[in-house]
Amino acid sequence: MVGESTSRHHWELYGYWRDTNPYLSKRDDICLYSDVISSNTSTVESLSKCLTLNANGDKVHDFSDVNIMDIANHCGMTTYWISTHHKYGIVDSSVPKGMSSANHFHYLMDDFPNEAELYDEKLLAYLEKALADPGDQKLIVLQLMGTHIEYKARYPEKFTKFTHKDTLARLYPYADTDQRRTLINDYDNANVYQDYILNQVLNILSCHKEEGNDVSAVYFSDHGEEVYDYRNFLGHTPQSNMSWLHEIPFFTWGINHTCNQDQPYQMNHFSHTLLDWMDIQCNSFQPEKSLWFSNLDYGQRYMGNGEKYEPTLGFKKQITHPSLSAFNRRK
Ligand SMILES: [Zn+2]
Repeated sequence: MVGESTSRHHWELYGYWRDTNPYLSKRDDICLYSDVISSNTSTVESLSKCLTLNANGDKVHDFSDVNIMDIANHCGMTTYWISTHHKYGIVDSSVPKGMSSANHFHYLMDDFPNEAELYDEKLLAYLEKALADPGDQKLIVLQLMGTHIEYKARYPEKFTKFTHKDTLARLYPYADTDQRRTLINDYDNANVYQDYILNQVLNILSCHKEEGNDVSAVYFSDHGEEVYDYRNFLGHTPQSNMSWLHEIPFFTWGINHTCNQDQPYQMNHFSHTLLDWMDIQCNSFQPEKSLWFSNLDYGQRYMGNGEKYEPTLGFKKQITHPSLSAFNRRK
């Protein structure tokens, strides 16, 4: 599962103050990784790094290197790329081109041209069909629209959970208009809906597993997002120098490897984790770059613009109501 524009800083599972994970938080079968960051801060930059063997190259926006679909196809697996993204966007088109070698290649907009009806729940039927197809060696990738900008368009009305703006006015100094506070609510609601979708995917996989199939899953977001969290900024930009925009949620399900949950990792090496996961050997495979390498040691990580990455630590929302200054404890 490839997410979109989802910041770990807006997930309850990572300590966010709102309950944006009402479904996943009830599961005891996911393995949450605390310190995974994206290689870059826009979709094509990030996915071209983590889905190809171009891990250390300086090429961005480039799917010319061997990618994970090519490798899985070559090794006899049946491959699926199922997406709710735009197929022919000006910026995004290199992702569908890169992944078009998948045996089953679905952009749901071809089937649902009315974009207003194309919520991520449409992916579920395609997943069930893929699982029901003959064969037991499959790589199925679901690319979610997730929490991409135009947040309110990402979830059906019934998933509107957060509407209250009073607290936001105190917590987010840069969300200084009603419109901006509404955007924070919309983003958090989109996260709740995504939480529902991810839980539904895991429920489907659980049923498939109970039928005797060997099945496992990984979820990550392509990069993070900002919604006036700590500065006057909304969205994400390519090759950003902001740590926040690299800090993504990442979890696994049904995978025997459960080590390194709190070890630093960066997604430009994720193709090696995929090779490890699928048990594929090749000259290009570098086991020390797999997330599950027993002595995983990263050293310094670098952001999309080449600067050193330093974690966003100690960021806590402080409620500082002006009238609190009148309260003092007697000596
Ligand atoms: Zn993206």
